[in-house]
This record gives sequence, C-alpha cells and structure tokens, in this order.
Amino acid sequence: MKRFAIVSKEDTLTQEVQMELLNKMHANNWELDQVNPELVISIGGDGTFLRAIHKYMDKLSSILFVGIHTGTLGFYTNYKRDEIDLFIHDLSSDNPTVHRIPLLGVEIAAHGTLDYVYAVNEIRVENIIRTQLMRIYIDEEYMETFRGTGVCISTQAGSTAYNRSAGGAILQEGLDFLQLTEITGIHHHAYRSLGSPFIIKKDSEIRLESDNFLEAILCYDHLVLPLLDDSVITVGYCTQTINLLVRPQFTYIQRLKSLF
Ligand code: NAP
Repeated sequence: MKRFAIVSKEDTLTQEVQMELLNKMHANNWELDQVNPELVISIGGDGTFLRAIHKYMDKLSSILFVGIHTGTLGFYTNYKRDEIDLFIHDLSSDNPTVHRIPLLGVEIAAHGTLDYVYAVNEIRVENIIRTQLMRIYIDEEYMETFRGTGVCISTQAGSTAYNRSAGGAILQEGLDFLQLTEITGIHHHAYRSLGSPFIIKKDSEIRLESDNFLEAILCYDHLVLPLLDDSVITVGYCTQTINLLVRPQFTYIQRLKSLF
C-alpha cells in the first residue's frame, strides 16, 4: 500500500471533502500515514498548503505534495473540491506533472549561535515598535541602510502573497528570482533608501545587519522568530525544493485570473 497524509482546515466543507477523499484514496490502495507519507494532500487554501510544507519540512525530498482547494483556486492548490477524481486520475498516470518549487534558506546568526529556517513564500524582518535601521548587503556588497518598519524578501511563488501587498511585482512561474520590497520605509531629505521593489538574481545572497535588532522579528511564511540585538540574517534560494503535483491544463495566467 502507498502512504498518504492529509493536512486540512477545520471547517465543515473541508471536513466533508476530506471524508470523500479518504474513501476514494482507500479504494485506490492508499493508506493513511500521518507520520511517514510519500504523498501529502493539503485541503484548504494556500495558507493550509504552507502549513503542510512546514509540517513535513524534514522529509521534503521524499514527498509529493498536492493542494485541493475548498474555496477559490489558489497558487499551490491546483484542484477544486469537485475534482477529486481528476486528481486521482492525474496521480495514477504514468507521467504526472510535477513542479519543483524552490525554497528560501535563511541563516540567523546571533550571540555566537546559528539557526536555520526555510520559507516558501517569503521572509520579513519587521519592527512594529520602533524605527528599524538595517544595512542591506547583496552578495557581500553594501547596498543601502533601510529605515522604517522592515523588508520582505520573497520567492517567485510568494510574489502573489505579502510581496504583492507591499507593492512588489508578480513574477510569472519560471522566473525564480528573489524580490526585496520595503515595508513602510522612511523617505525624506535626511534618509532615503531605494523605495521600489528590487528583483534580484536567483543565485544571490542577501544579508541584513543592524546595530540593534531588539524588538524586531523574523517572519517566515506563517511562522515567527524573535531577533536579538546582534542578529545577522542571510537569505537566498537553497537546494531544497517542494515537489508539487499540478494540473497540466491549469496555466499560471488562469491561476492568476482566478485570484483577482
Ligand atoms: P494566511 O491566512 O495563511 O494567509 C493570508 C492570505 O494569503 C490568504 O488569503 C492566503 O490564501 C494568501 N496566500 C498565501 N500564500 C499565497 C501565495 N503564494 N499567493 C497568493 N496568496 C497567498 O496568513 P498567515 O498565516 O499570516 O501567513 C501565511 C502567508 O500569508 C504569508 O506567507 C504571507 O505571504 C501571507 N500574508 C499576507 C499578508 C498581506 O498580504 N498583507 C499579511 C499576512 C500574511 P488562502 O486564502 O488560499 O489560504
């Protein structure tokens, strides 16, 4: 028997879809295994998909992910709730269409220790209590000192998420660049930073330093870490990828149109 796991939202509609899916998966020789799955099905929205990825972060290379949407269609959730048969058909095909979605690797150095986290959509360094100063380096080269609430560094897949709300551009699938956007930067005659989204080569590394990161936080997707006074954050695409089963007929433009 092949093994699958489910990560789902709690609402009644999603639970009904989950029940139907469980029956159909069992009928197709799949058994539920929440600990060691080879397939993870997220039922909900893009937010549920992010939670599924982080839940199985230490097993990404051996897992195929798929998203079934119980609302409108999302970027990671390719199948609608009434397309379970189509999903099982695509899954059982000899040559299923799998997209590899790259992740951000984030190193946080502080007080002589190193932490490492991953992000699918973006990371944000934010301070909502006081003006945050931070020096931004791209590939070891000093770019600017930012002053304001914070910065967002997003992936291509995350470009339609927080990045878009922060005024960043939407990057079409296949353009695996990094994007740096400001979160309420201060711009006047004494201080000025770039002020516009910056799209950066995919193999670049961005480093954020400050004389004081106290009270600032590092958000990575839906998760958060407090920063320390001397934290240094280094961000770039890493070698880890998500294997995502997609509907080949459902184009990026169609997904984009279904959102707005
Ligand atoms: P969440 O409730 O899980 O998600 C917030 C909204 O962002 C939901 O509508 C979600 O879609 C949508 N979303 C997530 N990833 C997306 C993507 N790649 N493209 C388009 N829409 C996407 O919120 P959360 O737990 O705080 O954080 C999860 C993510 O939400 C973060 O990574 C961040 O990008 C995003 N977020 C955005 C804002 C903002 O735009 N101001 C604020 C907070 C968080 P579904 O409805 O399909 O789940």
